[in-house]
Amino acid sequence: MSATSVLSQIDSPIQTIAIPPLLGASVAELTAWVQQQGQPAYRGKQLHDWIYNKGVRSLADVSVFPKQWRAEVADIPIGRSTIHYRSVAPDGTVKYLLQLADGFIIETVGIPTYRRGGEWESGRGGENPKSLERLTVCVSTQVGCPMACDFCATGKGGYKRNLTRHEIVDQVLTVQEDFQQRVSNVVFMGMGEPLLNTDNVLAAIKSLNQDVGIGQRCMTVSTVGIRDRIRQFAQHELQVTLAVSLHAPNQALREKLIPTARAFKIDDLLAECREYVEITGRRVTFEYILLAGVNDLPEHAAELAKRLRGFQTHVNLIPYNPISEVDYKRPNRDRIQAFVKVLKQHHIAVSVRYSRGLEADAACGQLRASKQ
Ligand code: SAH
Repeated sequence: MSATSVLSQIDSPIQTIAIPPLLGASVAELTAWVQQQGQPAYRGKQLHDWIYNKGVRSLADVSVFPKQWRAEVADIPIGRSTIHYRSVAPDGTVKYLLQLADGFIIETVGIPTYRRGGEWESGRGGENPKSLERLTVCVSTQVGCPMACDFCATGKGGYKRNLTRHEIVDQVLTVQEDFQQRVSNVVFMGMGEPLLNTDNVLAAIKSLNQDVGIGQRCMTVSTVGIRDRIRQFAQHELQVTLAVSLHAPNQALREKLIPTARAFKIDDLLAECREYVEITGRRVTFEYILLAGVNDLPEHAAELAKRLRGFQTHVNLIPYNPISEVDYKRPNRDRIQAFVKVLKQHHIAVSVRYSRGLEADAACGQLRASKQ
């Protein structure tokens, strides 16, 4: 599919989003808005540059605009958050609590990856300066989350509301400004369930792609799976990666960990994932949290491999990050490696994702609980 048709596919829901706030709007939308304000069309492009490249936070500061008009529109929101709390882990990962206009707090993470001698690694430069090669932002899509997965800190805190387009884009600009480095990758793996907020997520993907300049292939949307939503998401034929939080090889175990799985059987979920692959031509990644003694035995790995047979996929194992509300345990390295081995024997592509920045303030989602 050509770039233009991809973009026209994601054009549709954006039209319904009213501006201001101005962040998240395209050049065309900003041009229409300035004209509506009685200004010449070219000011739309100027505004776009000030919002996305210069990171302006108030229209009063756009010095290329006439003074009188700046004063008139000074109170119109651009839509930037403020940093409520920031903590840096020894590996360079930065966790932020961002405060939204209505006072709610969300969590965002900036994850730098460095390269030295062809090897990817985390960590700060130190004595041998390494070049920062990738800057990944983990964005939230909701304030809280209604899915209530048993092992997830965000789910324990309840659900407040969806984030809007500008609130998602803002998280990326905030990390970009703080690191003074262009963001290369975005993962929709922060607080919330992206497919319960599809329109805003699609609109944010479009803006991150066209306005901030991040390739669609460098974005990953992670979902626990909501009936019909993966199929609907596929219709947009994006080039983003879809990651599905499977976490169990069978229905019985899955619904123990993920209460909402009762309403969406594992086989139906996998059928929608197959449709996603057919429609988009992209692989689906499966995420699988490893909980010691619960879902991490070799027989679970064998059952998982059987269930995914014939699927063009990649399994991402996530050793559990302990949260205070439940007493699951993270398996030791031998157990993790044994699980990996079984999957490899069944020719399933697999990687282990160790969480970054745990030192900063424990696992994802817990920072907000502890600092609010
Ligand atoms: N709602 C989306 C995004 C959630 S967070 C989803 O469910 O995919 C991204 C990933 O982190 C999900 O796979 C989620 O299950 C996982 N996760 C949540 N809590 C965790 C914990 N305590 N330890 C390890 N992974 C966790």
